[in-house]
Amino acid sequence: MLDKQPYRGRFAPSPTGSLHLGSLFTALAGFLQARSQQGQWLLRIDDLDTPRNVKGSADNLLKTLEAFGLHWDGSVAYQSQTLDVYHDILDKLTKDNQVYPCTCSRKTVAAIYSGACRDKQTFPDSPYSHRLKTDNSVISFHDELQGLISTNLARQHGDFILKRKDRIIAYQFAVVIDDDRQAINHVVRGYDLLALTPRQIYLQQLLGLVTPGYMHVPVIIDGQGYKLSKQTHATAVDLEHPQKVIFELLTLLKQNPPCELQYASLNESLEWAIGHWNPEPLKNCRAICR
Ligand code: GLU
Ligand code: ZN
Repeated sequence: MLDKQPYRGRFAPSPTGSLHLGSLFTALAGFLQARSQQGQWLLRIDDLDTPRNVKGSADNLLKTLEAFGLHWDGSVAYQSQTLDVYHDILDKLTKDNQVYPCTCSRKTVAAIYSGACRDKQTFPDSPYSHRLKTDNSVISFHDELQGLISTNLARQHGDFILKRKDRIIAYQFAVVIDDDRQAINHVVRGYDLLALTPRQIYLQQLLGLVTPGYMHVPVIIDGQGYKLSKQTHATAVDLEHPQKVIFELLTLLKQNPPCELQYASLNESLEWAIGHWNPEPLKNCRAICR
């Protein structure tokens, strides 16, 4: 059913530093997946985690994408501009008794949350997070690259946080609202976010929203096996020679670019990549070593 609608995907970076090869890899995969199906590709800046935001990096992300010819459709969405929307939905879930205040500290919460605060009747004076009740149902979905994923949220994760103790709306909550508001029907993102997807699908079901198709592409790792990220101080991509970087990325994406493409212009490279895009070789692949 989803495939009959025009494809609408997005790239949703967090403005926590300059764009490195790992994020550009995800951006290019999403762009090619959208453009090869004459689809739209939107851009959203996930800027809710204010302590992690780095000043100027949102603008820097936009400039970098443009320098690589990865032009997006429509205007850029910023999560920080729709805070009311998340809070309205959170209020509604709280009234419906789906959400409760949790005062547990991160240290005391194990990998699976025990539900210790589930029966709290009143909202405490000390800082608390908002947790969503999960049930014993199994959430299953078919990832376009990673295959069938099935999770029992209650047993494998427990109730999860929608708003953090520091009053920041959690990523796994905001992303669901935003993908719906932007009518996204295909999500392409890194494998590192696969484990959070069942929670998002659970929320979509609870809120009566459509679940998009998901494609979790491998993450790029360095020689030590670490994911390229701002935390591991991955260097920013080379803006001077974008076509060379695109060539390297097409190789990492297992697209087999012909070697003469190294000398083609950026536009020619992207056109070739759109025309030849085939995600098949990335199937069951979680990480690619640079
Ligand atoms: N903002 C998230 C990140 O940079 C990605 C969100 C998503 O694609 O769902 O890791
Ligand atoms: Zn608790």
